Amino acid sequence: MRPAMVGLVCADRWPVDAARNGDISGGESDSGRMTNAPHWGTISSSAPEPSRQSQHVVQFYEADEFLADSVGDFLSAGLDAGAPCIVIATPAHRADLERRLVADGLDLATAQAHGDYRALDAAETLATFMSGDTLDAARFAEVIGGMIGRAAQGHEQGQQSRRGQQGQARQPHVFGEMVALLWEDGRPSSAIELEALWNELSASLPYPFLLCCAYPMRLLAGEANAEQFATICRSHSHVIPDESYSALTTTDARTRAVTRLQQKAASLEAEIAERKQAEERLRISENRYRRLFEASTDGLLMVDPDAQTVIEANAVLATWLGSTPARLQGVELWQTSLFPSRAAMLELLRELEEQRIARRDVVLASAEDGQVRSIEFVSTRFRANGHDIIQCNLRDVTERNQLEARKNAFISMASHELKTPVTSLKGFTQLLQRRLQRQQVDPQTMLFLDRMDAQLNKLTGLISDLLDVSKMQEGTLPYRETRFDLDELARETIENVQAAITTHQVRIEGATGAQVSGDRDRLGQVLINLLTNAVKYSPGADTVVVRLSADQQWAEVAVQDFGIGIAERHHQRIFEQFYQVVEPQEGGYPGLGIGLYIAHTLVERHGGRLWLESRKGAGSTFHFSLPTLPHLSPAVEESSVIAEHAEVAQ
Ligand code: ADP
Repeated sequence: MRPAMVGLVCADRWPVDAARNGDISGGESDSGRMTNAPHWGTISSSAPEPSRQSQHVVQFYEADEFLADSVGDFLSAGLDAGAPCIVIATPAHRADLERRLVADGLDLATAQAHGDYRALDAAETLATFMSGDTLDAARFAEVIGGMIGRAAQGHEQGQQSRRGQQGQARQPHVFGEMVALLWEDGRPSSAIELEALWNELSASLPYPFLLCCAYPMRLLAGEANAEQFATICRSHSHVIPDESYSALTTTDARTRAVTRLQQKAASLEAEIAERKQAEERLRISENRYRRLFEASTDGLLMVDPDAQTVIEANAVLATWLGSTPARLQGVELWQTSLFPSRAAMLELLRELEEQRIARRDVVLASAEDGQVRSIEFVSTRFRANGHDIIQCNLRDVTERNQLEARKNAFISMASHELKTPVTSLKGFTQLLQRRLQRQQVDPQTMLFLDRMDAQLNKLTGLISDLLDVSKMQEGTLPYRETRFDLDELARETIENVQAAITTHQVRIEGATGAQVSGDRDRLGQVLINLLTNAVKYSPGADTVVVRLSADQQWAEVAVQDFGIGIAERHHQRIFEQFYQVVEPQEGGYPGLGIGLYIAHTLVERHGGRLWLESRKGAGSTFHFSLPTLPHLSPAVEESSVIAEHAEVAQ
């Protein structure tokens, strides 16, 4: 083992000079280590040099191994020159360094015993002059300055006085990691402040010393650290890049590396600029979304379907629920009073999982303003950023429902009020027809009376449809249930309709052979409606086909026309009240848009189904199906008719 003083140094050169000469890093070291640390070995404190000054070097590194090699060289150079060394590092780095120095052949135990090598714990040393986030400059000068001063003068315990040939103090070599510790701890400004304290100390101490700080490069990565990184570099007299640069041995290799780094920096800058723009766009869109969300007059709710909790609710909804957006966050969905029970919420979530959309109507009584609100509640489940999310839009439809109720009440009242005078008009018209027929008045008067009668029939039909609609809404439409033969009803209805039209031939195909149960007149009304529509909406055709068919359970009636057809986008709404297809190029057709609504309600009331197949310009086929009854023996059939009559009589 070589003593610390042996193997002295070459030239008195600093990394910065070396860098100027294109020779900052060392190439392969004599110990054959894997990394090529800078030539600390070429930095000597031994040469008699009256102008020697303190130096403050920073070493960046990626791997701990590289740090141990680099700082090891720095300390070796010092020990070899007979200078005292002070290491203020983490326990792991102290251990690495000491292993490395011993492997280098240094007699560390002797150096330690002579007070030439002193190792301190970085965190503990930091704690001696720092409380909370505050660095105590005076205390720093006292603790650290005192230690360096004593080392420089050879006054450390056990230190033999080994002043230079001209009686100069030896230049202590100090390696410190307290700054990196602060940075790692998320306090980069304190690290910068501590670097400044070191600089003040080196300016004020009468003994020059060599100080080496080290930062792992990973701590400094990122655009956010750019400015502080520049400050750190400015705080040091020499900056040594990490191993990715220092490992390069030739000037050409370094020039190439610098060029690569410049290109990388330029791309990163471009990337950062792009990212900033994207972030700005995102921020604008986020703000826009936020404004929409917060200022919406509809209630909005975002729900986590897995946790079944509220992610976010807007102010309007929070008011309806007697809460605040903040209080609603994280609340279990079923506890928001939008559901009568947990089971009801689970039912909605199941529906959303299967169909992605679900609709509910709820009534909310707000504790806040005492209002009772009818709420239409539409939920959709979708995937965003790899997660499923539920969005609920809630609309206060109280006013709309009230208007709807008023409109229904008006229709009901108007149709009742109209019915009596129209019935009386119809009665008097018929009376007049009979009288004038007996008096054999001129044919033109009779024709006028016939037209009046036909118009009154139309009016009566409209009024009775309106009355049906209001009774359906009130749930008071009477049904007279009987058992009857569906084919017979179809034939009879077709004959009656055919008798009133001259433009079209209604052709009947097939038979159901089915007995059904229901209100015969009402089901006849369904078929009349489909037939009159078929004629009305096929002005260019002359045929309507009625197809009858059945299987074991269902009898089906299909009415096909060859008219204007209905575009697919209307199919879903065609059975709604007052819905009429308006196609500008087709002109208008008279009507109220309630015939299909009535037909649909009647068929559904009989346990059946009404649907359509149609394309614009290609005619329409309206189908309705009804559940069939099993055929009865003639004797039973007779008794059932009696029972039906009795039921009708009730
Ligand atoms: P309307 O009194 O207007 O005929 P309906 O409820 O019977 O009312 O029909 C609703 C709407 O459906 C009609 O306005 C018409 O646009 C369309 N429609 C109904 N039947 C047919 C059909 N066979 N062919 C084309 N359009 C039809």
